[in-house]
Amino acid sequence: MRGKREITIALAGNPNSGKTSIFNGLTGARRKVANFPGVTVEKRVGHRKFGRYSITVIDLPGTYNLTAYSPDEKVARDFIINNKPDVVINVVDSGNLERSLYMTMQLVEMEVDLIIDLNMWDEVTDSDVEIDTDKLSRLLGAPVVKTIGNRAQGIDGLLESAISLVENRQNMHRHPPVSYGPKLDDIVLDLSDEVIHCRGCPGCRNPRWMAVKLLEGDEDIRHLCLSQSRRRGRLARRLEHALEHVRTTTRQDPEVAISEGRYGYIAGIVREVMKKPPADRMKASEQIDNILTHRYLGYPIFLVIMWLIFQATFTLGAYPMEWIDAGVAFLQQAAISVLPAGAFSNLIVEGVIGGVGSVAVFLPNIIILFLGISVLEDSGYLARAAFLMDKLMHFLGLHGKSFIPMLMGFGCSVPAIMSTRTLESRRDRIMTILIVPLMSCSARLPVYILFTGAFFGAAAGNVIFSIYLLGIAVAIIVARLMRRSILKSEDLPFVMELPPYRVPTWRSVVIHMWERAKIYLKKMGGVILIASMILWALGYFPRKSEYSRDYQAQIEQLESVGDEQAQTQIAELEAMKAGEELKYSFIGRLGGIVGPVVAPLGFNWQMGTSLVTGFAAKEVVVSSLGVLYHLGREQVEESETLIRILQSPESGVSNLAAYAFMVFVLLYTPCIATVVIIKQEIGWKWMLFSVFFQTAIAWSAAFVIYQGGRAIGL
Ligand code: GDP
Ligand code: MG
Repeated sequence: MRGKREITIALAGNPNSGKTSIFNGLTGARRKVANFPGVTVEKRVGHRKFGRYSITVIDLPGTYNLTAYSPDEKVARDFIINNKPDVVINVVDSGNLERSLYMTMQLVEMEVDLIIDLNMWDEVTDSDVEIDTDKLSRLLGAPVVKTIGNRAQGIDGLLESAISLVENRQNMHRHPPVSYGPKLDDIVLDLSDEVIHCRGCPGCRNPRWMAVKLLEGDEDIRHLCLSQSRRRGRLARRLEHALEHVRTTTRQDPEVAISEGRYGYIAGIVREVMKKPPADRMKASEQIDNILTHRYLGYPIFLVIMWLIFQATFTLGAYPMEWIDAGVAFLQQAAISVLPAGAFSNLIVEGVIGGVGSVAVFLPNIIILFLGISVLEDSGYLARAAFLMDKLMHFLGLHGKSFIPMLMGFGCSVPAIMSTRTLESRRDRIMTILIVPLMSCSARLPVYILFTGAFFGAAAGNVIFSIYLLGIAVAIIVARLMRRSILKSEDLPFVMELPPYRVPTWRSVVIHMWERAKIYLKKMGGVILIASMILWALGYFPRKSEYSRDYQAQIEQLESVGDEQAQTQIAELEAMKAGEELKYSFIGRLGGIVGPVVAPLGFNWQMGTSLVTGFAAKEVVVSSLGVLYHLGREQVEESETLIRILQSPESGVSNLAAYAFMVFVLLYTPCIATVVIIKQEIGWKWMLFSVFFQTAIAWSAAFVIYQGGRAIGL
């Protein structure tokens, strides 16, 4: 038997065609499956054994085209050109054959070893459309395999087909050349004759493809050809000539002419292979869309759906929250009784269990929120929301496409910022990246839950909703300001993609939810655990040896009295002692610096310090408060939850200050992980801008709320 034992397979296709589902099927992985463009931002790699082959599968970003306009397209194209995978599987949404083939034709032209994966085949069988797959295979010169990605059906067929291709057992015809119509075909042929002399380019498996790309005005390819060609001047002249020729014969921009030619050819193929025009699925979708994306009704419906999800998050989440809370207290008591008293016991009880526990209680809320978003996403509604927002986004000087990263920002800024790679214009990317962190991410939720729980009682859901809306409002203002000042430029036209509605499958919703919950859990075990321990140490050390008075002696004296009054006095003395210790510690000194800065906002020094530590991750604000308030206490009383402590008059926090604090947490610098990603995506300058600008906005907003509120007597 001939053939390699190692095979590399790349998955290419439109967003939403089911690439990630196929990838999961092929590799057995449980990757995030998402229902809108921009989620699979980087290529993912998985492995699998099949027969005697070890197979590497790469999930490329979903794109509609293979020009190098957006970073996503560039990633996909560069991979195919430079890494030369043995097989490219083009995942196609069978219900959207015509549109999908636009990319397929380019893969055909690149003469890669191609398999057409007609995914979502279930939707074809459910409708009365018929697709002649044999004919399609002949017309494209590539094997065609039917699959149902979300149920992992047809995966073996794909693998077998891939192996046949590699072993050359399948005697495929060469791809017939794509025709752009008589006028263009000659020009393409002519130019490819010249391109043949441009040897040495990595992509030059096929001069015809290069010629088409040159005509399309592809800068990368142009640069490549002109820098490598041994007949540079001649190539440049002939290209100029060819472009001029296209312009005069078609009276169109060459890029448009090529694109129309390609669509024409595709329309021909579709006519050949499709028995009935696709109608049903789209029709049902259209009817639903008439309501959900209605010009006026659409917006209130969107708000109501979001509001319902929030309400569910807080009302349903309250029950498991109590259980976890009780569990944490139980663990602390258990640790106290097992471990000998001292620094280590204190570290475990306050630093580790207390710090992580104070964040863990919010896990149920977050899981419910993620569940809701996953359902919206998988059903196709999120894409509608983006469509609906397109007009509003234009008001910001952005497109509906930017809405998706913004919406994802409610989950976590990091993947949201990465998903901006689908945006073509750099200006849009910068602007979107800068406002994504203003969308309140789930890490901030624990802070809101804690403070609304302590101060706003039954109104909690509404108060939190208002914070989210405020984040959006600030984003709007910031975007408008930036567009007028530092980020002026022209709009690019684009088409908003609307996938058909799908009933979400449990499997995919749960995988999705789990993927996100896992990030949260990992954070608890990682950055939050470490931050809590560091914080504990900063609060525990340096140890104080001299106090303003002799607490020990006074306590012992009172203990010998032993009545009830003496007990309360002892407790008071212990609290005072703990307070002195905390003031003396590193964290107390930090608090001494931060305290005055946040005092005008109505925050006490513990809150100020927790904000500093919140730079590590916003949940850390809560765990810090947990550690800061409990440090030095010998006893953990069950009733003494953080909520109670905050409510008590001695904490000195008013409702107004609590609201200002939530606003501050909403707006101030993104967490370290986000900052790193911003730097990676758009550079130092914007990263620093983001950190300082946002913190300034946060301080000002909190100031206005607190001082303004007091002035009007709130
Ligand atoms: P990607 O954007 O190309 O990676 O597509 P995904 O794998 O994220 O899939 C998009 C959506 O289509 C998800 O909701 C999947 O559950 C769903 N899906 C994937 N394959 C099929 C299929 O064969 N049939 C149906 N009905 N749905 C599918
Ligand atoms: Mg994907």
